[in-house]
Amino acid sequence: MTAASAGTAFHGKAPAPMKATARALRIAAGAIKRGGTVVFPTETVYGLGADALNPRAVARIFEIKRRPRFDPLIVHVSSVSQAGSIARLTPEARALMARFWPGPLTLVLPKKKPVPGIVTSGLDTVALRMPAHPVALALIKAAGTPIAAPSANRFGRLSPTTAAHASAQLKDGPDAVLDGGRARIGVESTVLALRGGTFTILRHGGLPQEEIEKVTGPLSERLGGRARPISPGQLSSHYAPSAALVLLRAKKPRLRKGLRYGYLAFSEMTGLPVKTCAVLSPSRDLEEAAANLFSHLHDLDAAGVDVILAEPVPGRGLGRAIMDRLRRAARGRGRK
Ligand code: AMP
Ligand code: MG
Repeated sequence: MTAASAGTAFHGKAPAPMKATARALRIAAGAIKRGGTVVFPTETVYGLGADALNPRAVARIFEIKRRPRFDPLIVHVSSVSQAGSIARLTPEARALMARFWPGPLTLVLPKKKPVPGIVTSGLDTVALRMPAHPVALALIKAAGTPIAAPSANRFGRLSPTTAAHASAQLKDGPDAVLDGGRARIGVESTVLALRGGTFTILRHGGLPQEEIEKVTGPLSERLGGRARPISPGQLSSHYAPSAALVLLRAKKPRLRKGLRYGYLAFSEMTGLPVKTCAVLSPSRDLEEAAANLFSHLHDLDAAGVDVILAEPVPGRGLGRAIMDRLRRAARGRGRK
């Protein structure tokens, strides 16, 4: 990319990832300031960002991702005071920020005027997060504006945990791709709505429910399943690989002749006659499993299988977010 081309046109393909040096950060921040889009690393997954206060810039995110416009975006900030410039912060929200920011917790709060409707899909709330990644924080600071960013993948597909995953999917070209290494957490943030003093989990993610409950007490959930989701991460088919994904119930599933199978195991290689097998965590560690989830699914897809058989993982801690992503991936039909 050339910095001068930022935000002007379709490029036909994503630029090559740039190691996130000081110079690369300057180029990327310049692109954001001029209304361009930038892929950047966070601790959860890679994001595709634009100036959250510039509706035309945000519109490019939807074009590049081919994302439906009813899907609101998370706005990334580098400080609590920046959060306070775009949302009304209640004492409860401030307490959660003090405890969990920077980190994988997104708060849905009443929005203030400057947030354009394209960011919130016209809702009167805005989703906010401070990412725990030095490159993300440096980019937001250097750009001098909050950055709206969904995950840097084509809509409905696997979230990218490396810069290479992101540029491979975004053919219509963001203006820059910053490479900050592998995403440490590997699943998206937990989304928590705060309304009238009550907290509701809208999406399980990188911050386990149990951790939040230490601060808030028992939480209610309002997860997907309805035709018109209140939070689009609730769309039933989402986070899907190209191959069909089947979430296993039986230990010994019947394999069909003529199909190439991949296998996503929790802790041990399978004895089934599959083409390829990936293990999420040999030590049964749910944090390691979450960090490996999307990259293993990418690898199984790249191995050219027709069907991925996925073992369930324990539904506690980060296992909730993993099971949520696997269930949604299973509802996608695959694209083969
Ligand atoms: P992603 O596209 O992976 O960044 O996910 C963003 C998540 O935040 C989605 O599940 C959105 O539905 C949710 N979200 C963003 N803004 C709002 C909002 N104002 N109200 C409810 N959910 C939101
Ligand atoms: Mg996403």
